[in-house]
Amino acid sequence: MKHVTCAKCVRCGAEYEAVPDLTTCKCGGILDIQYDYAYIRAHFTKADLAACQDYSMWRYRPLLPVEPDSPSTPLRVGWSPLYQADRLAAELGLKRLYLKDDGQNPTASLKDRASAMAVVKAREAGADTIACSSTGNAASSLAGNAAAAGLSAYIFVPSRAPKGKVAQLMVFGATVVSVEGSYEDTFELSKAAIDRWGWYNRNAAINPYLSEGKKTVTLELMEQLGWQVPDYVALSVGDGCTIAGAWKGFKDLYAAGFIHRLPRLLSVQAEGCCPLNRAIQTGEPWRPMEENTLADSIAVGVPRNADKALAAIRESQGIAVNVSDEEILEAMRLMGRTQGVFGEPAGVTGTAGVKKALELGLIDPDATVVSIVTGNGLKDVANGIRAAGEPMRVAPELPALLDAFARRGIEP
Ligand SMILES: *Cc1c(COP(=O)(O)O)cnc(C)c1O
Ligand SMILES: [Zn+2]
Repeated sequence: MKHVTCAKCVRCGAEYEAVPDLTTCKCGGILDIQYDYAYIRAHFTKADLAACQDYSMWRYRPLLPVEPDSPSTPLRVGWSPLYQADRLAAELGLKRLYLKDDGQNPTASLKDRASAMAVVKAREAGADTIACSSTGNAASSLAGNAAAAGLSAYIFVPSRAPKGKVAQLMVFGATVVSVEGSYEDTFELSKAAIDRWGWYNRNAAINPYLSEGKKTVTLELMEQLGWQVPDYVALSVGDGCTIAGAWKGFKDLYAAGFIHRLPRLLSVQAEGCCPLNRAIQTGEPWRPMEENTLADSIAVGVPRNADKALAAIRESQGIAVNVSDEEILEAMRLMGRTQGVFGEPAGVTGTAGVKKALELGLIDPDATVVSIVTGNGLKDVANGIRAAGEPMRVAPELPALLDAFARRGIEP
């Protein structure tokens, strides 16, 4: 990898050779992949991208830490649609809003970007088995991407994981361990098993390549926007790997000369579980919190990527907003009704945060905002129904229908 220089600890600055099975630094800090931007500037241009026919995350290989001869993954990960969401913007009183629907990835969440990267690096490491713990989507995306590439997967999920995600795991043929405990307990058990059996580790805050996969959401977003940098990018935050990856993408594009300014990040967490935002808001170190929200994908009381995520939010002069479960469900209805986009609770939390930030006067209504929809609503239909309710029940006769409409004030 001529364009990669090393992996550097975000805590103590120690540098390591960028081998495929990197984990954390000796000091416990997370590593960050470092690039030779002079080399990248000389070998990668906007014109190269304009001519590229690969409509997946692998179109950005010159900015990704993979060997030139490593095969791409079989599933089409990335190149999710970016919608200009005028109807939603009008309801929110915002000048310009875009939704990037990453629920349209092969296993229906942004996590596919990290899992595809993990599969490539596992193969580079010569591994045939890969493992992770997850609140759900990292697991289902790993199981799907591993299945497509012919790798075995061992998956640890907390027993609260929604059925849709568990069904994906089972269908993709992973060995699934449903842990009777919190996400924190699940993570610790997966760690012990990975140590015991030596599997390739796809735990986001341990493996530094995963946020490099996630950064492709930004590379894509910027290419889709014609390299016009928005004012804000809103993301829901759990472990912090996604927001850190998104920020890395912006910094890469800046360093490689593709863009000339940076946006501000809008970090959105659930009120019932917001350890990272609380650290931003109070200026104190983060402390664990209970996992008290229906948005299971961001119910992370002990964030594993706190260092990188807090640095990203601060460097971007970002804004931290917390939203209630009711505001999350409201955002789900609103996005569905105005734009036809169905997100899972954590998938709509970024948008709930945009609404809240506007109400609190934290962002200017004249701003251009991109909200990343990180996961599809079909993964968690129970919360979809909780948000939008049940349909009317009607006997199969026209008079019954007329009666039902009249009672609800529906006038077709
Ligand atoms: C994982 C996930 C997030 C948050 O990503 P982190 O890296 O844990 O901060 C947000 N939304 C969805 C749908 C996710 O699956
Ligand atoms: Zn270190």
